[in-house]
Amino acid sequence: MNLLAEVTEVKGIGEKTAESLNKAGIFTVRDLLYTLPRDYENFQNLVKIGRLTPGKVVIRGKISDLDTRFARRRHLSITSGKISDDTGAVRVVWFNQPYRAKQFDETRDYYFTGEYNLKNGRYQITSPSAILAEDTGEGHKSSSIYPIYRQKSGIKPPQFNKFFKNLRPIFAEIPDLLPGTFKNDPLKSTRPAFVYEGARKDALFSSHFPDTEVEVKNARKYLAYEELFELLLAAKLSKQENSKLRAETLKFDQKSTKKIVDSLPFKLTNAQRRATWDILQDLEKKTPMSRLLQGDVGSGKTVVAAISAFQAKENGYQTALLAPTAILATQHYEGLKSLLEPLGVKIALLTGATKHKEQLKKDLRSGKIDLLIGTHAIITDDTNFYSLALCIIDEQHRFGVDQRQKLLLKTARNIKKSADNIAPHLLSMTATPIPRSLQLTIFGDLDISVIDELPKGRQKIETEILRNIDQESQLYPKITEEIKAGHQVYWICKNIEDSPKLETTSVKKQAEKLKHIFPKYHIEFLHGRMKPAEKDEIMERFSKGKIDILVSTTVVEVGVNVPNASVMVIMDAENYGLAQLHQLRGRVGRGQAKSYCFLLTNSEDLPTRRLREMEKSTDGFYLAEADLKIRGPGEIYGSLQHGALDLRIATLSDTKLISAASKQATAVAGAFSKNPEIMLNYKELMSGISHYQQLTTLN
Ligand code: ADP
Ligand code: MG
Repeated sequence: MNLLAEVTEVKGIGEKTAESLNKAGIFTVRDLLYTLPRDYENFQNLVKIGRLTPGKVVIRGKISDLDTRFARRRHLSITSGKISDDTGAVRVVWFNQPYRAKQFDETRDYYFTGEYNLKNGRYQITSPSAILAEDTGEGHKSSSIYPIYRQKSGIKPPQFNKFFKNLRPIFAEIPDLLPGTFKNDPLKSTRPAFVYEGARKDALFSSHFPDTEVEVKNARKYLAYEELFELLLAAKLSKQENSKLRAETLKFDQKSTKKIVDSLPFKLTNAQRRATWDILQDLEKKTPMSRLLQGDVGSGKTVVAAISAFQAKENGYQTALLAPTAILATQHYEGLKSLLEPLGVKIALLTGATKHKEQLKKDLRSGKIDLLIGTHAIITDDTNFYSLALCIIDEQHRFGVDQRQKLLLKTARNIKKSADNIAPHLLSMTATPIPRSLQLTIFGDLDISVIDELPKGRQKIETEILRNIDQESQLYPKITEEIKAGHQVYWICKNIEDSPKLETTSVKKQAEKLKHIFPKYHIEFLHGRMKPAEKDEIMERFSKGKIDILVSTTVVEVGVNVPNASVMVIMDAENYGLAQLHQLRGRVGRGQAKSYCFLLTNSEDLPTRRLREMEKSTDGFYLAEADLKIRGPGEIYGSLQHGALDLRIATLSDTKLISAASKQATAVAGAFSKNPEIMLNYKELMSGISHYQQLTTLN
């Protein structure tokens, strides 16, 4: 079977299932093969109920006497039952998982894996996972290790086990991928020993049908290596490619830079100066800049971008500034207009809502506009520049790879006054702090400037952890006080609507509740499923102070600047990563007023370490490092970049594996630059890395 065949080619996958898989990013057989289990259940550890001892246990039995009751004014649900086998019975309890009461068929056997412990004077199994015994393929299976998949857009974990069972015969045909593994491979000497001929099919097979835990471990090692190798090779090849392109040289002129710096209403921080200097020097070069400007929320990246755009203008070239949302583009436009127009820079805004688009595009084409700020409306095919030499992408992680690609391609093609292989300089900005320890490993080949200092006079945001269940009401007086003082409140909820399957609070329900509690205040809600125009309109009104409390999902996470907001409440805070919590908190504390962040947790237990770190520090870089320690780097990076660079398996702290991958990538990139044809042997690899290539170079 062709690995690139659509998933519908797999037995058991019809149109409807395929549609759900596609939604989860699984289009081809290869995508499916790389959908790895999130965990394994080892039924070798199975014990009879009569012989249970405290600790993590696996038992098999039938469940009965299921019952759900509520405690603490219905904020806590407790579902209990009895699991029995031929040696005895044990009590089982789930907290806040009311759906468990209806999940089971009492006539069938399940495997349960969980903690067996003494609670309130009696032994019980608490919140175990459950798998229908038949689903494990009993009877015709050779192994007692059962892979558990993640549920994906409605496809239940056991369905994945079925898909792989149907795919089992094709594993033997999976071709090799990495250099050094093919017969008579000219790059054989570059590979480490554990990457042998057939290593890929072995690794994929062992991931989905393992016999032992050691096999799983080796498979992971190979697959993590494969992933890191692709990433690093992509970075190295991009760097090689980039060095062949030409850019317009934009000369630094001390007098004009001084003019704009002097016109600022504040003094640049030292970190802003350093970053600006890095960029202005890059702009003078003949090769296009490819620089990531990283700075914590509120560190003042926009003004650095403005100074760069000014250098382009002084050299007679245009700049495009791309923002991920219309509200952010509009904010930039208004802020930069007051700074740059007095200096003679013609500035324009292009979003979906812009009127007189035709005239604007004409002016752009004839060079009457120096700086165009906009959303992806900039990328549409009929927007053409006259002399574009600098592209700035704000909150770059918010853009899909192809959108970034399109901006650069179009600009390269649609510039009137330009030669062929000329590419614009690229400045990407992000408030996502990438821990220093990761920067080198992933972005070793990319130029980075960091603003690691906040402007003077910012007050620390006071952060406090509270328990949803019974402490939410303690917040109300503070909320009233802040609103009365003329400030505004963000109130973040996990989901949009209530559903019996979800334990977390919803935007709609919370908004209703708050309207009831604060009848005099203006309360609105906002979430990602609303129409763009509707979203922008609500944000606009919040910006203008017409909404007191904005109940929202994390759609407000990115970039928005409403300095008058002083309170951030995050419900079910234990569900978010540190980076995301930090981004959300960064929406307040942007003005003069003292600001507050309240983290509400829904958990029975003590606050998690993540939340305690939030309470302790407001430094994005410190928190990123802490996150790295708590969760392991593969994962944070994934959630940081919102899927842009989500490594499936590799953890970026695995320095040994990274250095092995880096060594081979360097050798392969070197061979490639001497003789590009050598890569014809590795078609699948080359098509795979183009994905990473766009991520690691940002262009
Ligand atoms: P971010 O890095 O999050 O994009 P912004 O560029 O939006 O931050 O800047 C946040 C706020 O700080 C803006 O209101 C900006 O005018 C202000 N600001 C930027 N630099 C300085 C500085 N050196 N001193 C004082 N305020 C500054
Ligand atoms: Mg910004």
